[in-house]
Amino acid sequence: MAAKKGRAFLGSVHKMFDRAAATVRLRDDVAKQIRDCNAVIQLRFPVRIDGKYQVFSGWRAIHSEHRLPVKGGIRYAAVVDQDEVEALAALMSYKCALVDVPFGGSKGGLAIDPKRYSVSDLEAITRRFTQELADTGFVSPSRNVPAPDMGTGQREMAWMADEYRKLYPSDLNAIACVTGKPPTQGGIRGRVEATGRGVQYVLREFFRHPEDAARAGLSGGLEGKRIILQGFGNVGYHAAKFLSEEDGALIVGVIERDGALLSDSGLAVEPLAAHLRETGGVQHFPRGEFVQDGRKALENECDILIPAALEGQINADNASRIAAPLIVEAANGPVTFEAEEILLGAGKVILPDILVNAGGVAVSYFEWVKNVSHIRFGRLNRRLDEQRGADIVGLVEHMTGKTAPEQFARPLLEATDELHLVRSGLDDTMRAGYVAMREAMLTNDAIPDLRTAAFAVALKKMALSYEEMSLA
Ligand code: GLU
Repeated sequence: MAAKKGRAFLGSVHKMFDRAAATVRLRDDVAKQIRDCNAVIQLRFPVRIDGKYQVFSGWRAIHSEHRLPVKGGIRYAAVVDQDEVEALAALMSYKCALVDVPFGGSKGGLAIDPKRYSVSDLEAITRRFTQELADTGFVSPSRNVPAPDMGTGQREMAWMADEYRKLYPSDLNAIACVTGKPPTQGGIRGRVEATGRGVQYVLREFFRHPEDAARAGLSGGLEGKRIILQGFGNVGYHAAKFLSEEDGALIVGVIERDGALLSDSGLAVEPLAAHLRETGGVQHFPRGEFVQDGRKALENECDILIPAALEGQINADNASRIAAPLIVEAANGPVTFEAEEILLGAGKVILPDILVNAGGVAVSYFEWVKNVSHIRFGRLNRRLDEQRGADIVGLVEHMTGKTAPEQFARPLLEATDELHLVRSGLDDTMRAGYVAMREAMLTNDAIPDLRTAAFAVALKKMALSYEEMSLA
């Protein structure tokens, strides 16, 4: 069953590839080179748990190496298989190419339910997995750089970085072997929330183009828009937080493992996140209406549906019942190829995963650059910028004889730190990716939808680099 799911996911990504390749008339030989993974490794390794050996299975797939290192998260999940990892690795290549992150695509998975292990067991398992991956060149600062994904986070990345550094103590760039580390261990500020922030920045850009919003029957901005989210993990939680707290959107539904919580007047994100942390579910939250059949809530009426959980959640079975006019893919592969055809036929707009969730890898790129340059962004110019701002305020006040109004003076006097720079770089990345995607759709009559457009932009860039390297 699980293997069948992975196979269907990979098939779906291949169909998306084929559809886009035709629109940009990708040469057959180049298409062949790009479409499938270049290498996949399956590792089986033992770890002693409570005095007995347990054998774990993990995979890491390398999709395209037109740029190095290759990049992509490592997922810890009870159900994971090679096809799924290959599909996710392919999406990483397209994602990076679309948003100009100069990496190839890769992805890893370990078949484990992390909730069933103690922290020290997880550490032993992660360190052993790192040794196996490093041994085979599937983790390396210059060749293959993992990051967090479902079931992993800063903690696992810190263990991996530490293990790699121990294995290769003379590698000056050892710390760049993974991204998503805690800032105190060579990570970068703003990485944890980067994917959720990226979702926010893409949506803001979408509403900057009223014609695009009109295609989904929407107008205005994010203020007051009713959003249903599936998945309140790192990505879903941060997207919900920023969209509601900063843009005035209403979170009218949150779908989690135990069911869905619905509220027409909007759910407060922080208390709900705390409840989920404490109880492991959304049931018994003092506000909103709980319904057991969470997946059914995907079909509820709202303005924006954000699937931020697993792949294949919107498929041929439920696609025709989806009411939301705009679907924003914060997860990887939440809408299958077949479901997309049904949704597009019904006039829905889908913002595709390879753009929407690219914020994570974009900030990973900044972290990797920081690691290999061995200096924090802003360290050299921070005080200089601050002084320049003060000089401008001083000059204006001197020339006018008046005190500069607070709202203009404050931003000028504020020093630019790493987090400001990361946000600025992320915003620019997401906006540029959106614009490239929409322009591809508007200028090529063969491209009818945004996913095909996003793939087309990515494939053209990848093909060019293969052709320039004379590999095809
Ligand atoms: N796992 C994330 C993704 O699917 C981030 C990958 C990365 O930062 O390398 O995009």
